[in-house]
Amino acid sequence: MKKILVTGGAGFLGSHLCDRLLAEGNEVICLDNYFTGRKKNIVHLLDNPYFEAIRHDITDPYFIEVDEIYNLACPASPIHYQYNPIKTIKTSVMGAINMLGLAKRIKATILQASTSEVYGDPTIHPQPEEYWGNVNPIGIRSCYDEGKRCAETLFFDYHRQNNVKIKVVRIFNTYGPRMHPNDGRVISNFIVQALKGENITIYGDGSQTRSFCYCDDLIKGMMAMMETPENILGPINIGNPGEFTIRELAEIVIELTGSKSKISYMPQIEDDPMQRKPVIDKARNILGWEPSIQLKEGLIKTIEYFEKELSGK
Ligand code: NAD
Ligand code: UDP
Repeated sequence: MKKILVTGGAGFLGSHLCDRLLAEGNEVICLDNYFTGRKKNIVHLLDNPYFEAIRHDITDPYFIEVDEIYNLACPASPIHYQYNPIKTIKTSVMGAINMLGLAKRIKATILQASTSEVYGDPTIHPQPEEYWGNVNPIGIRSCYDEGKRCAETLFFDYHRQNNVKIKVVRIFNTYGPRMHPNDGRVISNFIVQALKGENITIYGDGSQTRSFCYCDDLIKGMMAMMETPENILGPINIGNPGEFTIRELAEIVIELTGSKSKISYMPQIEDDPMQRKPVIDKARNILGWEPSIQLKEGLIKTIEYFEKELSGK
């Protein structure tokens, strides 16, 4: 049995990760400040003697003995990470320093949940890990993009300077049950709008693309990365290469929900990346991983979840 720390463990992805780690017989400690996470996501785990939830902000140091650390704490939705941009950078950078310092002291392996946002508005398509990105350093998304880029730098410097055992995955847009109804990201917004019969809000003309990965696939990829030999550091892209325009996504959500909602076009948002699709050759070859749940199948499961969530069950 391994003892594993999950920061951001009460969030959307963190709570699914806690579930899987416990199911595989590990002891899990979840750290969260509940900024975007919810007790509801982990309430089913609170009676499990191998699970512990601790309210803690990772911008402050934390001391514990564990074998592995998954560092997921950070708001991931643009509206939430832009709400307090300075705090977002502190979470990414000071949080990484605190967790890397902990990993160094206790000789734990630490995995960073990085992001496709490190590629910014990419000029190379699809995006391989070798691409250095096209990020505006002073824009409204920079607190997240540059924070995550700096966290990657810290991970590699702690490895080079202090031999910390690191793993970095770059997560592309991931969705599924336990997203907050007010999360603000595109899939949750569109499904909630469709179920409520409200207008579906497309920012810009909807020709921008994203590649959407279902949460269960993502968690498998992230855990496979943690299991790799010590010399595998990453970064490795984890995502689903199926690429859709935002307009196509709106149409699919309307079709699957049977909604009468209409599409309403809103002004384009600043620095919105125009295209995004992962090259996943490394994930395939090194992790033996690829996504198995395609968009419609994943959306059906997510719609079921939001139907329950909105009916208050
Ligand atoms: P989320 O917002 O649901 O989860 C983030 C969690 O971190 C929340 O529970 C939040 O309360 C917690 N948190 C935030 N700041 C904290 C702090 N200072 N101290 C302690 N806890 C803090 O988002 P998510 O989608 O589950 O994302 C999890 C991680 O994966 C994030 O690091 C995110 O950047 C990364 N990621 C997610 C996606 C995606 O599409 N879901 C894509 C790329 C990267
Ligand atoms: N988007 C949209 N309507 C919404 C929410 C998002 O058109 O209600 C668009 C957004 O402009 C972006 C894409 O959907 O082009 C994905 O946005 P999201 O916030 O989910 O993630 P990110 O931009 O970080 O990939």
